[in-house]
Amino acid sequence: MGKGCVYGEGMRIMGKAGRAILSPPLKRYRFYFDLLKKTTDNYIFLVDLKANVALLSSNLVQEFDLPGEILTDAAKHWANLLHEDDRAVFRAEMERVRQAAGEVEHTLEYRVKSRKGDYVWIRCRARVAMGMDGRPELFTGVMTRMARRAQADDVTGLLNKYQFERGVRRALEAYRKEERGGAILMLGLDNFKLVNETHNRTVGDRVLKRVAQLISACLPPALTLYKLDGDEFAVIYPGADEKAIAEIFAKVQACLSQPQEIDGHPFLCTASAGTIFYPQAGKDYLVLHKHAEAALSLAKREGKNRNCLFSKDVYNRWVRSLSLHDMLWESVEKGFEGFSLFYQPQVDAVNQQVIGAEALLRWQSPRGKGVAPMEFVPILEETKLIIPVGKWLFEDAVKTCKRWREVSPNFRVSINMSYEQVKDLSFKDFVTDCLARHDLPPEAVVLELTESKIVADWNFVNERFDLFRAKGISIAMDDFGTGYSSLASLKNLSCDIVKIDRAFVKKILENDFDRQLVKYTVALCHSIGIKACIEGVEAEEEYELLTKQCRANSIQGYLFGRPESAENFEKKFLAVGA
Ligand code: C2E
Ligand code: CA
Ligand code: CA
Repeated sequence: MGKGCVYGEGMRIMGKAGRAILSPPLKRYRFYFDLLKKTTDNYIFLVDLKANVALLSSNLVQEFDLPGEILTDAAKHWANLLHEDDRAVFRAEMERVRQAAGEVEHTLEYRVKSRKGDYVWIRCRARVAMGMDGRPELFTGVMTRMARRAQADDVTGLLNKYQFERGVRRALEAYRKEERGGAILMLGLDNFKLVNETHNRTVGDRVLKRVAQLISACLPPALTLYKLDGDEFAVIYPGADEKAIAEIFAKVQACLSQPQEIDGHPFLCTASAGTIFYPQAGKDYLVLHKHAEAALSLAKREGKNRNCLFSKDVYNRWVRSLSLHDMLWESVEKGFEGFSLFYQPQVDAVNQQVIGAEALLRWQSPRGKGVAPMEFVPILEETKLIIPVGKWLFEDAVKTCKRWREVSPNFRVSINMSYEQVKDLSFKDFVTDCLARHDLPPEAVVLELTESKIVADWNFVNERFDLFRAKGISIAMDDFGTGYSSLASLKNLSCDIVKIDRAFVKKILENDFDRQLVKYTVALCHSIGIKACIEGVEAEEEYELLTKQCRANSIQGYLFGRPESAENFEKKFLAVGA
């Protein structure tokens, strides 16, 4: 019998018209098969292994868009619909069926692409019946759509957290038997929440699905990607060492650093990771899970888009971040106790006069210890405490700026804004009201937003920015050059000032490329009417080189002053009361 499909009376006619050919055994059983298929919602099939023809129930044909109810080479058609990760197992199983020396039972679970394009989990139970010649003749069985929640994640089709738990337990079992440990890589998407918030869940689901495909493609073929809760994924990698994990993560990073497009919305969703090695990090599922979560959570808190390897030190830092979290709440509840603002001067690039300052948040924990902003700001953002703290510091900076303008009438204060505040619809009214209350003109304020944090919709961010700009407040794109799509941000975001990150200044003395980059970035900004501020200038030689190379508008760096308390700033940089 040739390849392709044949059709029977009343069947779907697919392909070229031809004579319906049913092999004799199928003809014999067809009556019963038709009766049976009326009695069940499950999918059923009967294959004549020798003739390679199958009878398929109509619901199976419809659900998976198969060419017809009588099909030659059905296993091949079916295999093509299977999830890539499940095909090899299926083919091996079919080979076992064809080579069976007796009535073997076949049970297999796999993902199949449905007519709608998503993968559904199928459990297939079937048996082989032997022919008179002692060779396998018929293969018949039932396929059920599994209660998907039990096995697969609805959105991505990947195995879910319960399967992950089983996988980890199996890996631990294997370790006990063979003394072969391995690694677990837990991945979490950075800022995925924003995708859901700025679009909707449907877009969010599509993003998750795309990301799942991208990550899967980075894994060695034998490994499985699991989907855990929310935006988390995991991989169990028996036998892996640090190098193997680093290679996978580098691939994932490279892959996710390419902006993607979903339903016409561009998005960029990097991932953070936490890695644990078993049995070193624990010999029990719950312990391993907790430690992997701790490593992942630390990777996020310490800057995102990175992989953190679990260690005792990591665990202690994680515990510390939990206690900082509690103490930050306490400080906010006690009327922002422990918070203060430091000010770092910004100077005119040509005449080196102080033209303004960036307000930088400081915090002393209730235990009296100063904590670095890089450590506590991410916690404030994560817990949304940045919203009240951001309002408090805005008001404080406005009051200070008002005072300093009495001495230096054009003085401007730059205030950092987190993405959480951009989204907060009450922030704009608060800002307008606060400026009015303290009688500070809007042009005295610059709001800074870190470029790399703008992961969501540019249109949305522009709309929010334009509300401030319409009032006369300037917007600065902070840390320019540290994101993955700086040029695209420059093209798409409406801002007034670009702050070129210190990362470029650091190397300008020895590296011509960075020198040129700073030079052309400044020129590019000017050509589109944006001012440029260079951050992190520490040495005289850097300043000289920069002023020779380019005509930035302002400079901020230790060379001209470190962040100081308001009191010290006044003494050093302003002749207040003098
Ligand atoms: P940023 O906004 O990029 O602030 C500039 C950081 O660079 C400051 O660190 C400043 O002290 C440091 N810096 C300035 N000049 C130099 C230099 O010449 N050399 C070196 N090595 N560093 C220099 P800081 O104060 O530790 O703040 C770190 C980050 O914390 C800020 O980076 C910002 O992302 C965040 N942050 C600080 N205050 C606030 C705030 O009020 N709100 C929000 N949302 N984030 C804040
Ligand atoms: Ca800043
Ligand atoms: Ca900066």
